[in-house]
Amino acid sequence: MDIPPGRAAKIVKALGRYLGADVIGIGPLKQGWIYSHRGARPFFEAGEPNPPLFEGMPDSYAGRLYGDVIEIKHRSAVAMGFSQDLDIFKAGPSEASDLEIGRVYARSALAACQVASFIRSLGYPARAHHVRNYCVLAVPVAVDAGLGELARSGHLLHRVYGLNLRLSCVTTDMPLEYDAPVDIGVQEFCERCLKCARNCPAGAIPEGPKTVVRGVRKWQMDPEKCLLYWSKVGAACLVCQLVCPWTKAPSLLHRTVAGIAAKAPWTAGALVSADDLFFGRTYKRRSKPDWVGRQVGSGE
Ligand code: SF4
Ligand code: SF4
Repeated sequence: MDIPPGRAAKIVKALGRYLGADVIGIGPLKQGWIYSHRGARPFFEAGEPNPPLFEGMPDSYAGRLYGDVIEIKHRSAVAMGFSQDLDIFKAGPSEASDLEIGRVYARSALAACQVASFIRSLGYPARAHHVRNYCVLAVPVAVDAGLGELARSGHLLHRVYGLNLRLSCVTTDMPLEYDAPVDIGVQEFCERCLKCARNCPAGAIPEGPKTVVRGVRKWQMDPEKCLLYWSKVGAACLVCQLVCPWTKAPSLLHRTVAGIAAKAPWTAGALVSADDLFFGRTYKRRSKPDWVGRQVGSGE
């Protein structure tokens, strides 16, 4: 079915939003953002505690997909972001954070599969990429689709949601109108801010300057230090996401302040000081909702 690219983009975005995406954009798919091989090696060296998911080859991959070369020739990507409940999140690394991250990743995966299925039903190839089946790097794909910028912490930073987004995407050859990448001043803001790096309990986020990694100049966080910390505390950590001054509920006040930060990133010093004053300079864990962690059927 031939649909003009502008109209097709509107339809796909409307479907993504209907399926729960808080933000959605479309951009070109660069070959450099596609993983080379399927699967993952054991994450940590022998003797260090591996989270269960990283202890070698999953059974379901054995003799089938593990190590296969990934080839994706699609020209475009639809990137979607899903926000998490900040009140649950504020309980820090705990069953509460695992619960919320799992809920939102599941929603993002379902939406990506449904959008891909819809595009295929129109006669175009499409593939969903989500937490259990990413074949592309979701953050740079989202940057190219105009959802935000790459931040010091390694996350996508969105103008309204800050670092509070989980990402999924759909790659396709359907002719779609692209969104332009955005400049919301994140590079200059992160130069002056450092709040995520100073609060990271694992020291995984650099406080120093950007470095060149595989041809890209950026702050390179250390995923092994980060995941080792998750393994030690037994839950997903999200301190960096929570302390970021851009990560707030999308109120009118927050939108206004974010608008100032985006237009005048040189105000970062003052805005971070104000954030420290109102929300604290260091991460303070809140108690989790009292219904989280109770045993089903225990009567508690
Ligand atoms: S999730 Fe936690 S350990 Fe990992 S980079 Fe963020 S603050 Fe550091
Ligand atoms: S906490 Fe500060 S330095 Fe870190 S990503 Fe957010 S704005 Fe950038």
